Amino acid sequence: MRHDVIVIGAGFAGLYAMHRAVTAGLTVLGIDAAAGVGGTWYWNRYPGARCDVESVDYSYSFDDDLQREWTWTERFAAQPEILAYLEHVADRFDLRRHYAFGTSVTSAAFDADSGTWEVHTSTGMRHRADFLLCATGCLSAVNRPALPGIEEFAGEVYYTAAWPDEAPDFTGKHVGLVGTGSSGIQVAPLLADSAASLTVFQRSPNYSVPMPNRPWTDDEIRRLKAGYAERRRRSAYAPAGTPHTSQTKPAAEVDPHERAEALRQRWSQGGVLFSKTFPDQLTDLAANDVAREFAEARIRELVVDPVVAEDLIPVDHPIGTKRICTDTGYYQTFNRDHVSLVNLRREPIIGVTADSVRTTIAEYPCDALVFATGFDAMTGALTRIDPVGPDGDRLSHLWADGPVTFLGLMIPHLPNLFSLSGPGSPSVLANMVLHAEIQVDWVFALIAAARAEGATQVEARPDAADAWTRHVAEVAEHTLFVRADSSWYLGANIDGKKRVFMPYVGGFGTYRTHCDDVAENDYAGLVFTSR
Ligand code: NAP
Repeated sequence: MRHDVIVIGAGFAGLYAMHRAVTAGLTVLGIDAAAGVGGTWYWNRYPGARCDVESVDYSYSFDDDLQREWTWTERFAAQPEILAYLEHVADRFDLRRHYAFGTSVTSAAFDADSGTWEVHTSTGMRHRADFLLCATGCLSAVNRPALPGIEEFAGEVYYTAAWPDEAPDFTGKHVGLVGTGSSGIQVAPLLADSAASLTVFQRSPNYSVPMPNRPWTDDEIRRLKAGYAERRRRSAYAPAGTPHTSQTKPAAEVDPHERAEALRQRWSQGGVLFSKTFPDQLTDLAANDVAREFAEARIRELVVDPVVAEDLIPVDHPIGTKRICTDTGYYQTFNRDHVSLVNLRREPIIGVTADSVRTTIAEYPCDALVFATGFDAMTGALTRIDPVGPDGDRLSHLWADGPVTFLGLMIPHLPNLFSLSGPGSPSVLANMVLHAEIQVDWVFALIAAARAEGATQVEARPDAADAWTRHVAEVAEHTLFVRADSSWYLGANIDGKKRVFMPYVGGFGTYRTHCDDVAENDYAGLVFTSR
């Protein structure tokens, strides 16, 4: 059957795209590999999973009634509550009936004769649509490292990014945790609570700020709801899509006492805000050092064993240039007698046996292994589908030297295809929910404009995409982000992946202005054609 639109994904971006398609009166099919809605919040149901952006900001703004009706219980919502919210949204706007769940897209090709995308699925179905909206997520293609001997391991194996529905029971078990990014840091204290022993295998330490989570009071909720319009107005063109701003003065211009106070305040506010205490913190190494030294002093305070504390302090990146983590008692977990840290930079893993992990120095018995080893981020979900354009151009070839996009949304040679929250957009550096809304609104305005003109095909011009991609790289070059050697922002966590800084660091508001300008300028940079 031919649809106007196919939406791949039922996470924040996919559900909103589905809602926009339905309200625009378009015929639409949604496809998602999961058994239900939720996207990343469907899969990442590991204990401790929680958002590091405040719940009242990390939620849709497009419908006032939805915003008024839904009441977040905590400052930083946990995975079950976010999933419940997305299920509520799906029901409230009657979105589920448009989806084929439990279905993966295995390939997609643009058929020049019919001017449609033809999509093949894991269930053997073939669907066609004029427009293909890939809300496939930037952190969804799971990285499953092939540790030597892993197939011999006789115990249980889990991935935080594909956690089973039925919660595993680690009581009395010796658990090995591989990976110490945001997911590993969140899950570790919870694993330690039930396991007989927890061994954390750490290749690269990360900085983490404690999450000062607490329930919202009734009074706060009343005031938040009354002030929602203003809160959203302040977020609309803000650097990160949230109402928070940094100190106005560069770190060096603030006297040391005031500087320490600003850092203390940001540290106690929690979340990712700490990496933006000063406006120059991510562009000037001296300013970054001030914040980095403050954070490192906190780690030394929190961890009793000074050798373990030093091992937990990152050595390979300025603070904030890899996603700063947000934790609940992570550092204190290493003060527990049954928890140990293995520094893989000192003793790399050489193999896995039936019941242990072996490093160059020792053998660590494990009944269960938990991999919090991240994702083939930003590009992986789309290159695994590997869409093919009308002239036979495959995405994996088009992006062999790094992703090339126009506004992080469109890819030359792949007409009528939109990559939501993809490389070249601020996505992972901003409030993902408002980011999804602005991108989806832009895409549907473009579809309406194309149809009003009688155009059947819209495509990014190669020179416009090259210019945007150069701009993305140039903005990043002026920051400290490019110094983070092991960052997934650069694709450095995946063997063989071209190292290119993928997100747009120019800020959410600036990005939005670029998108507005293109639309107001008759979509300069795009080619409209009719068949
Ligand atoms: P990640 O940041 O990529 O961390 C993966 C970890 O696994 C790293 O410590 C990595 O070490 C390690 N690793 C990978 N392959 C390995 C191997 N073969 N051997 C040993 N260690 C290996 O992934 P993540 O923790 O899932 O987080 C990804 C992103 O998701 C975050 O940055 C954040 O944006 C988002 N997230 C957010 C939240 C939240 O809102 N609180 C929670 C979870 C995730 P190297 O660094 O050396 O590669």
